[in-house]
Amino acid sequence: MSTSAVWNGKIFDGTWRPGGAGTLDVTAPATGEVVSTVGAASVDDLDRAVDKATTAQAAWAALPYTERAAVMSKAAALLSEEPERLTRWLVPESGSGQGKASFEAGLVTSELAEAAGLASQPYGQVLRSRKPRLSIGRHVPVGVVGVISPFNFPAILSMRSVAPALALGNAVILKPDPRTPIAGGLALAALLAEAGLPDGLLHVLPAGADVGAALVAHPGVPCISFTGSTAAGRKIGEAAAPLLKKVHLELGGNNALLVLPDADIDAAASAGAWGSFLHQGQICMTSGRHLVPADLAAEYTAKLAEKARNIPVGDPTDPDNALGPIIDENQLKKVDEIVQASVLAGASLEAGGTYQALFYRPTVLGNVPKDSPAFTQEIFGPVAPITTYETIDEAIDIINASEYGLSVGILTGNPYRAFELADRIRSGAVHINDQTVDDEAVAPFGGTKASGTGGHFGSSVNLDTFCDLQWVTMQADIERYPF
Ligand code: NAD
Repeated sequence: MSTSAVWNGKIFDGTWRPGGAGTLDVTAPATGEVVSTVGAASVDDLDRAVDKATTAQAAWAALPYTERAAVMSKAAALLSEEPERLTRWLVPESGSGQGKASFEAGLVTSELAEAAGLASQPYGQVLRSRKPRLSIGRHVPVGVVGVISPFNFPAILSMRSVAPALALGNAVILKPDPRTPIAGGLALAALLAEAGLPDGLLHVLPAGADVGAALVAHPGVPCISFTGSTAAGRKIGEAAAPLLKKVHLELGGNNALLVLPDADIDAAASAGAWGSFLHQGQICMTSGRHLVPADLAAEYTAKLAEKARNIPVGDPTDPDNALGPIIDENQLKKVDEIVQASVLAGASLEAGGTYQALFYRPTVLGNVPKDSPAFTQEIFGPVAPITTYETIDEAIDIINASEYGLSVGILTGNPYRAFELADRIRSGAVHINDQTVDDEAVAPFGGTKASGTGGHFGSSVNLDTFCDLQWVTMQADIERYPF
């Protein structure tokens, strides 16, 4: 691991400088080894960052769009040429398998490329008016955007806000998760700085929830983009409401994978394994509930359990390991408690349910009762709970009964029938003939119900998310009135 990284002991405010709260060790969950030490930001650092960002933003928004597009294009090119800029940190820092890390670096590249295009897109509409005048609605940057991101896909979940916000003329204060400050922030800042981002437009403040809360409360930050747990999202929503901020909350999920009676069970089990086990199930879109027709459940369960038993788990720096560790001890305990409590409640343990250090074996639970924690809660671990249904109506009711509404997969031999079912499903995404985990920079992304509120991410949708809509009219002469 490089010990000479520019961010050693530093935070980023356009230049690399020590943080007011000292330093933060970054530990690899697979080995317990400290892989880097970065600066830790204080609330004073936040105040300074907001002042600097506010000044820098006005000049940035006034530049020709070509300048913003050029920075995004250059950053996309640099990362595309050298994805190791991120993968070498994603693997140790967040315990990402190498496939997941490469996939994530690719997502970040396409996010930057799309942001370059976004900078040049039309940003308003010419409106009809009853008066003889030019009337337009146009998107203008909000000013300073606060971004708070989680540990699991730290690079893309930061960059999907940072890149479009910057491309549209905003400045950004990014507070990554303190467990993943490099891939979640400092390495992204290094990339954008090398691509020519002017000083003061992006600030990366590695810190915990206290600095996150101060960012939410800061009067100089009118827009917050938060990705994380529903519990923290609720607190942020409560704190931001009296401040009347524009707040985007992308939160947890408990996503159903619906296997219809006409599905190919081999293919379904493969999709189900990917949906539940990728990145150790630590994804908001993880397939958290497998709904299977009662008469196919034995076959589906056996095939999924066989896959689970054969997945290599271990230190992800070894490319033979498809899955790595759970992020930390607390999260591991939570996963195991849910598995054990659900077995006590009547679920059958078909595979896994064991761990060593932070490595949790891919786990399959059969006949999971609908009131057991494996069914009702977001597990955030490599666990595939299977529940049976008798009729399609029952399955749709089960899906919609969840408090969450992020992503649903439907596996079937008759995709049009599934398309019709999508009308009845309350979810931010429905994937027909795929599992629940997916994201593309060009597609609208956002959850419903307890999975999120606020704007969506993705391509032109970002205009609504990171801009205010301004109505501008212009007429040739001053309007005359009766008095
Ligand atoms: P978390 O909510 O504990 O932390 C996420 C970030 O928020 C961290 O940077 C943390 O420091 C900060 N934070 C926590 N409390 C805060 C507060 N009160 N004020 C301001 N900042 C605060 O999330 P986690 O458990 O580490 O991450 C996993 C969760 O994130 C899961 O629930 C997962 O489903 C969700 N998630 C959602 C999406 C999505 O797009 N919907 C994507 C990834 C993860």
